[in-house]
Amino acid sequence: MNKTLVINSGSSSLKFQLFENQTNEVLIAGLVERIGMDMSYLKLEFNDKKVKLDKDMPNHGVAIKFMLDSLIEYNIVKDIKEITSVGHRVVQGGEYFNKSVSVGQEELNKIYELAELAPLHNVPNGKGIEECMKILPDALNVAVFDTEFHTTLEPKSFLYPVPKLWYDEYKVRKYGMHGTSYKYIVEKMAEIKNKSVDDMNMIICHLGNGASLCATEKGKSIQTSMGLTPLDGIMMGTRSGSIDPSIFEYVNSKTGMDIKEITKVLNKESGLAGMSGVSSDFRDLIAEMEKGNEDVKLTVDIYVNRIVETIGSYFFRLKKVDAIVFTAGIGENVAMIRDRVIAELNFLGVKLEATKNNNNELVISSDDSSIEVLVLPTNEEYQIYKEVQRISLERN
Ligand code: ADP
Repeated sequence: MNKTLVINSGSSSLKFQLFENQTNEVLIAGLVERIGMDMSYLKLEFNDKKVKLDKDMPNHGVAIKFMLDSLIEYNIVKDIKEITSVGHRVVQGGEYFNKSVSVGQEELNKIYELAELAPLHNVPNGKGIEECMKILPDALNVAVFDTEFHTTLEPKSFLYPVPKLWYDEYKVRKYGMHGTSYKYIVEKMAEIKNKSVDDMNMIICHLGNGASLCATEKGKSIQTSMGLTPLDGIMMGTRSGSIDPSIFEYVNSKTGMDIKEITKVLNKESGLAGMSGVSSDFRDLIAEMEKGNEDVKLTVDIYVNRIVETIGSYFFRLKKVDAIVFTAGIGENVAMIRDRVIAELNFLGVKLEATKNNNNELVISSDDSSIEVLVLPTNEEYQIYKEVQRISLERN
């Protein structure tokens, strides 16, 4: 039976899931880590089993080949030809890609060209596609873009107040990310509520390692917190989010670090990890808070504040909000963050029911809350799978 592989290819990692097309079932999920480094390995999860296989994987081609061989070894597929389509997560689609596409050489070249705007992401994303084109030459390769969902932003929302030339010549603008997650949430909410996506305005908080918020009006993104790159917006695991751009010059004058070094610190050594001095992992932060660590408490105060201020600004854009949805690692699991964020909205009549919130239930608001608040686990892989199904149907 035909199967669809969904791949999220990073610079040194590769996450994947294999779907059975007829049943939509996930047959196996896995992760390759440390591609191009020493001690690389493949982890697989299937039929309640977990397997870790060590193997030297110097590049993405070897990693994909090893992963496919393991599917045969563990009897998940008999022949890799059963994989008739592959869906690839691509972070940056620029203004060129406003929907998922079947990838040929022309599209692949464009994905590499757009790497200018997302070098850390589009290059490995492109490599994943290129290798699949070689190893599975008969399969349909579909690129699904993180930026796609935000191509509905109006110029008043996506342009920065900088010289117009920067946009006209260099395409400096907000692109936004996590679009696949937002699309999944919007469509899932419509399914759960048995409504059309057009009937709902939402504020969605995608709080993972990378984190952003999105205001959706009638199912479309009208504002989002990430910008030209994923560095913009709210505070994240290791990213600062928005800061005064003058900090670059000031820190350079104080430390001698150049733009590249400062950008790296803002991406990798800031946010929850940088401020707390503990970790980017929220579980570690909770443990430290319980011990009374004051730096961590302040870090969490700032984290909450950044989310609340963003939610506030989205209320003004949307006017009417039907639901606030929390998703991704922190949004789905950390009741304390949801509680503290919504506490700041109590004055608007938005209220949580503590037991429901503590149990991570689907609806966590109280019956008399002015706006429904939900916890909805995101599933970007499934959304990519759905996009692949849609494109294969269109082609047949
Ligand atoms: P990404 O996909 O961006 O890497 P995730 O959506 O997996 O990120 O979210 C990772 C974050 O979620 C980390 O801060 C992690 O600590 C947090 N997280 C995940 N599960 C839990 C949990 N059960 N309790 C507390 N925090 C959690």
